[in-house]
Amino acid sequence: MQDFDLIIAGAGIVGTSAALMARMEGMSVLLCDGETPGSGTVSGSACTIATYANVPINSPSIFAALPTLLTSADSPLTFNWKYGLQNPRWMLSFLRNCRSAKVEEIAANLGRLLAKADESIDALTAESGAEDLFVQNDCLYIWSTKAGFDAARAGNEMRKKAGVTFDELTEEEVRTLEPAIQGPVHGGLQYKGARHVLDPQALTLRYHARYLALGGAWAQSSMTQVQPDATGVTVTLADGTQVRGKRCVIAAGAHSTRIRGTGAERLPLGVERGYNILYPQSSALTSRPVGWAEAGFYATPMAQGLRIAGTVEIASLYAPFNSRNTDYLHRKSKEMFAPLGAPDKPWLGYRPTMPDALPVIGFSPTSDNVILAFGHQHIGLTLGPLTGRIVADLALGKKPNIDIAAFSPKRF
Ligand SMILES: Cc1cc2nc3c(=O)[nH]c(=O)nc-3n(C[C@H](O)[C@H](O)[C@H](O)COP(=O)(O)OP(=O)(O)OC[C@H]3O[C@@H](n4cnc5c(N)ncnc54)[C@H](O)[C@@H]3O)c2cc1C
Repeated sequence: MQDFDLIIAGAGIVGTSAALMARMEGMSVLLCDGETPGSGTVSGSACTIATYANVPINSPSIFAALPTLLTSADSPLTFNWKYGLQNPRWMLSFLRNCRSAKVEEIAANLGRLLAKADESIDALTAESGAEDLFVQNDCLYIWSTKAGFDAARAGNEMRKKAGVTFDELTEEEVRTLEPAIQGPVHGGLQYKGARHVLDPQALTLRYHARYLALGGAWAQSSMTQVQPDATGVTVTLADGTQVRGKRCVIAAGAHSTRIRGTGAERLPLGVERGYNILYPQSSALTSRPVGWAEAGFYATPMAQGLRIAGTVEIASLYAPFNSRNTDYLHRKSKEMFAPLGAPDKPWLGYRPTMPDALPVIGFSPTSDNVILAFGHQHIGLTLGPLTGRIVADLALGKKPNIDIAAFSPKRF
């Protein structure tokens, strides 16, 4: 049986970053995934390096806004009641984490992580020669109504407290920056210096290629079971192979709690399903990602066209594709811009979300030979490389350069 320092489940942005970071440190690493690297949720993300996005969707205003959000046909939020009733632990914990003091605490903790995200992204990008996949041209949030703009003020204060800088824009300034916007605009925020990625799967594949070039091992098979013991772990893959490692890492995004024996099975991991559509001919329509706050999506100019990505659907991982969400994105993008033709490639992905919106990064509650790294909700593309750095440090027995107590898997 082959022996590795580290065996990693999941070649998404989190697992691939961890594999490359660990390999750069000279560890012997096996990365496994039944699918092509980067083809999971990260592939259809809105492409933003959202270091400014420390405000969770948990919010005290949710109690007042929920009835409208859930019943309006024109809402970015959909909720499957049957699924909700079957998962009361996640739902109740989510609502408990909507209290003001809790939201402030969450925003501060996410802010600390996000403030360190760039240095790890830069390290992996330089290592893998992926600079060409990044565009630095700011990011814009817009609000179409005064009520929406005013309601966002509390969140903006939490951003400022976390050290996020932005300029407040008038309607005229928004339209000057992005003349293609034809829908109503009350005002906006400009995150100066923000970056976005032209193709998140290509970025993950670039990290993966560098990992292989450094001698990292790769198995295109998913992990089904982990058996930790006093000296390490025995890992079983779907093809029946058994592999021995000193430690393993569970970085399988929304699927992380389905690998048996890791201790993650006990954690309340939820899923926020999100959708995107693509207008292949319209990549030059905006010059930067534009997030329409009330409508809950970004319009991002990326390699394959203008991607309209967002919405939150609370439903089972296994529920069928719900075209209500892609119809919504198509309708709202026509409101935001002129009609853009028929959308292409409707896509569904699974944001892995803990009820307190904080990722799980640290040793499993059941074994120090298992490291858990998932739950990055709306900001996993941004936090993947930093999480990889932390995972590599933990595997090396080093203290990470950021306090990770708030992200401990043992907090539940
Ligand atoms: C519509 C939308 C827009 C988004 N926009 C942004 C954005 O602009 N910026 C941002 O930072 N984030 C964004 N996100 C969030 C981001 O995409 C996720 O947080 C991120 O993809 C999580 O990364 P991951 O590596 O944990 O999971 P994934 O990307 O889902 O990767 C998990 C991998 O694990 C594999 N896997 C599953 N089970 C197993 C198993 N048993 N064994 C081995 N491997 C397994 C899967 O095949 C997959 O390859 C967005 C998400 C959505 C849905």
